[in-house]
Amino acid sequence: AQGTFYRDTWVEVDLDSIRKNVAAVKKHVPKEINVIAVVKANAYGHGDVQVAQAALEAGAVYLAVAFLDEAIALRNKGITAPILVLGASRPEDVRTAADKHITLTVFQQEWLQEAQKYLSDSDRLLLHIKVDSGMGRIGVRSSEELTAIEQFVSRDKRLVFEGIFTHFATADELDTTYFNQQLAFFEKMLGQLSQRPQYVHTSNSAATIRFKKAYFNTIRLGIAMYGLTPSLEMEKEIPFPLHEAFSLKTRLVNVKKLHKGDKVSYGATYESQGDEWIGTLPIGYADGWIRKLSGQEVLVGGVRAPIVGRICMDQCMVRLPEYFPRGTEVTLIGTQGNQFISVNEIAAKLETINYEVPCIIAARVPRIYK
Ligand code: PLP
Repeated sequence: AQGTFYRDTWVEVDLDSIRKNVAAVKKHVPKEINVIAVVKANAYGHGDVQVAQAALEAGAVYLAVAFLDEAIALRNKGITAPILVLGASRPEDVRTAADKHITLTVFQQEWLQEAQKYLSDSDRLLLHIKVDSGMGRIGVRSSEELTAIEQFVSRDKRLVFEGIFTHFATADELDTTYFNQQLAFFEKMLGQLSQRPQYVHTSNSAATIRFKKAYFNTIRLGIAMYGLTPSLEMEKEIPFPLHEAFSLKTRLVNVKKLHKGDKVSYGATYESQGDEWIGTLPIGYADGWIRKLSGQEVLVGGVRAPIVGRICMDQCMVRLPEYFPRGTEVTLIGTQGNQFISVNEIAAKLETINYEVPCIIAARVPRIYK
């Protein structure tokens, strides 16, 4: 069920696009490569359980989230597939993770020592070791630390060493020098292991698209699954079409004619130059449609219309090319007629990356699924 909502602003998520993108990536990599679908942050704002199910249907075998709560939310919504928590968890929460068959990331020996105290004899805790090969975020940074952790885990039958991974800082940049350094470091670390675990994974979307040599046996697919390009720099290097899954829509709730000199919104910064049709949209900065988007165009009647005046908390105004009736659908992100406003266009206006755009569209904007 989509749930009931009473507001005229919503996100439309095209799950078929998600399935197509996963299928395209699966076709791009050898068939034995496992796909982990990265569905952290409510699946980059698209909806965790819906995207997880679509990704699993399209051939992903594992899910990844940022923290334990996100994994538990998926379990509570009926997801039984393996889930990896990519970030750090608290040692006192390992029992909860083990109970719910949630895989944790480990990178500190003292964390394991502490965690042991919370496990009972019958618990089995799945672990992936994180290597910091140059991202400088979390992970073991030396072969001594790695060996110590591997040995520690091997001495406790409740701890299961299921995977090892690292994360690239520059996989989406055309200059591959740093990427190659990180890869070489990770390979050296792998060489230190007395036994390779079931899952070895390094590649995000950018590395998956570009570097066969970094597949090992598993990849972690995030942004490309949502149909978005990892960076503008590598846009031309994507060998298959990506389908954007995220659209943002609303409706005109008020339409009025202004006359020369009439003002619009806080600060009265916008002034009508003559007779103008001004429409009001029920979306504002509390929806993540932040004030920096003043001036951004939206699509009404298949044409572009600019947002005028300051964006309010829950509403903003657009200058319409002509009269449109109340209730007319307005597209803020997505396709209308032969016009398209991409997530990248909004990211450019916000001077940020496309990843941020669906993430910041607030939870109070309902998501509906096609
Ligand atoms: N792996 C880790 C550890 C991440 O933090 C992320 C996302 O930030 C991903 C994989 C997915 O990356 P992308 O969305 O670029 O495919």
